[in-house]
Amino acid sequence: MKKTSLTQSAFYRYGYEFTAKVLTEGKYPIIVCTLCKREGHSRDKCPDELEKHKLVPLPPMCDQLRDMLGRVCADVLGQLSPD
Ligand SMILES: [Zn+2]
Repeated sequence: MKKTSLTQSAFYRYGYEFTAKVLTEGKYPIIVCTLCKREGHSRDKCPDELEKHKLVPLPPMCDQLRDMLGRVCADVLGQLSPD
């Protein structure tokens, strides 16, 4: 039954509004970060996450650096590949 079809007194006696405030009594769930498990922020705003992703500039690419990075990638692939 729609709110508009009820009389004013019937609405206040039997009506129910499905609003966020009514359903939660004005209380909202606590946000817990899935990364650091602390309350008050989500993972995308985690200070730990922001700190973790600070990039360190690499030196200019040269043959020696390219060779070293290639060996690191091959070593990681060798260590983490399933047997
Ligand atoms: Zn966090």
